[in-house]
Parts: sequence; structure tokens; C-alpha cells
Amino acid sequence: MKNINEDTLDINNNLLVLNNCLILFIITELMVGKCLFKAKNKKVFNRKIEEYEETINLDGIEEKLNEDYINNLNFGSIILKYCHILINTLSKENLQTFYYNINTLKILPYKIKLIDLLKGRVVGGKYNPNNSIQLVEKYKYALPHELTHMSSTIVKNNGFILSGFHQIKGSNSYGYGINEGYTQYFTEKYFLDSFPDIPQAYPVEMEIVKKLICVIGEKEMEDLYFHSNLNGLINSISQYSSLEEAQSFIAAVDFLKLYIYKIYKSKELKNMLEIKLQQINYILLKCFLNKQKEEQNNGISAEKLKLEREKFDNYLGYEISIENIFGIDTLNIGVSIDAEDTLKRKILKKDF
Ligand SMILES: [Zn+2]
Repeated sequence: MKNINEDTLDINNNLLVLNNCLILFIITELMVGKCLFKAKNKKVFNRKIEEYEETINLDGIEEKLNEDYINNLNFGSIILKYCHILINTLSKENLQTFYYNINTLKILPYKIKLIDLLKGRVVGGKYNPNNSIQLVEKYKYALPHELTHMSSTIVKNNGFILSGFHQIKGSNSYGYGINEGYTQYFTEKYFLDSFPDIPQAYPVEMEIVKKLICVIGEKEMEDLYFHSNLNGLINSISQYSSLEEAQSFIAAVDFLKLYIYKIYKSKELKNMLEIKLQQINYILLKCFLNKQKEEQNNGISAEKLKLEREKFDNYLGYEISIENIFGIDTLNIGVSIDAEDTLKRKILKKDF
């Protein structure tokens, strides 16, 4: 049995360390941030887009919930509630990974590490590919997000971890940003009513995902995610753009995920973030317009197209710039449709 008092003490100690570390953290960010960034930057820019893996077939998985086992886990009642909502939400085909993992899931405590404090990282929970969730007790409502990871993660025999749209092998990682955006989007969409204390996370990635859904479609995105099918997502995007654009879109969102929430941003980093944002916005817009063209040819009414367009524009306006993205509260500002040509010209001048 775990000692609750020990855990509480642990969190208090961690918070104390956090306060003490804040000053150290700011100094570290200011002094070594630039050097670290230069080194990391080289890695990100020289990185080749990793070969991605096909998903695996889990047909024939037993669709059974071991309620006794789940109830006996730490936070068992939250987990069970999540399970029931998920089962009522997803189609049978999309629940295979969930059933594959749920009856052997482990819940472990997460101890905040010095590296988290130094990086200014707030960790509520973490899903590990050995099918365990590590959780900071006071962030127990990070569980629904982590359980969504659990419901979309499979490990292949060749060592590849396919987690939703994220693929990992050793130190190679691809699709991290878009995966976190979709995980949080899905979790908020279906679980916020039942768990109003779900912590906010990944606001920028989520806005990008909402735009991408306008292109790919809600159901298609869901099917791809719960089959851990990054390859399928890239193919879907490249229906409306080139394959290279689709791949670089995924990589650009990974770049944002790595750097956009850093407190200290050098001028160099800001410029690069701006380029990545423009690249992301350009590809999303291009795909969306191509999709609308196709719909128009298929006889979809002008009124419906206009409504779709308004919805698309409403998320993360495509004139979003590095200045207003840093103030997260300005994220919802939509921009007028007329800005499209100006933007395209502006973007095309840049050599991505
Ligand atoms: Zn996550």
C-alpha cells in the first residue's frame, strides 16, 4: 500500500523545490538557452523525416472490460468512468487498442524531476509504452488525456511505438505535436462535461488540429488516430497537397511543440517559429481550398461551402504571427477571408 502522507509530503517538497528552482530556471534559460538552442536546432533542421511505420492489425481482440481489476487501480473510479464514456463514444473498430491495453494498465506515481523544473515543464501525467500511467496525485484529472493515449498506443515487435499520430523508435520521434493536439482535442470534446477539471494543455496544437479536421473530417481523423495510423494521416493530407508538404507539415508542428512554450525565445528562434507557423498555415489553407474545390465540383452548395469556410477561418487565423501567438488569449482572433491572397504571396516568397 502506498503511504498517502508520504505522497503529500513529496508534492509539498516538490513545490518548494519548484519555488527555489524558478530563479535558477530563469537564469539557466537566459544564460544557456541560446547555446542549447543552437545545438538542438542543428539536430531538428538536419533531421531527415523518419520513415514511418504502417499500423498493425488488432482484429480479434477480446472486447471485455475487467471492471474488478480497473476498480482496484489507484483512481479506479475515474478510470472506469472514462472507460464507459469511451465505449459509448467510439465505434467497435476504434476500440481495439483500448481493449488491448485496458485490462493490464498500471497506475504509478510520478515524481517531479529536476529536469522538469529546469525545463519549466509542468507534468500532470505520463503514459508509458509499457502500458503504465504515471500521475502526479494533485493532477488526477490529467488521467482522461493519458487514458486517451493508452487507447491509441501499440508497440510493434520491431520496437516502433505507434501512439496515435506519434511514432517513436529510440531517439527518433515524429508526429509528437499533432498527436498531443489531437489527444487533448478528443479528450476535451468527449470528457470535459464529465470531468470539468481536465487541465488545459497544448492550445496551439489543438487549434491546428481543429483546422486539420476541417480538411480531413472528424470521423476520418478519429479512425486514423485510434488505429495509430500516421501513415494514413499523411496520405489523407497529401490528397490535397504534395506528399512532401504533408510530411513537412507534421514536422513543423513537431517543431512548434518543442519550442513555442519556451519562456526564453531568442530572436533567431522567434524567426524560425514564425516561418514554421506560416508553413503550417499555408499547407492547411492550401489543403482546405483544394478540398472545397473538389466539393464544389461535386455539387456542394455555395452556402454550405461558405459555412465550412467560416468555421475553418475561425480557428487560429491564418495571419497569426509570432507576436500574437505568444499571447495565447489572442488565439481565437479570426481574420477576414480577403487576406488570403496577400498571405499566399507573402508565404510563397519564403523558401521553405
Ligand atoms: Zn499527452
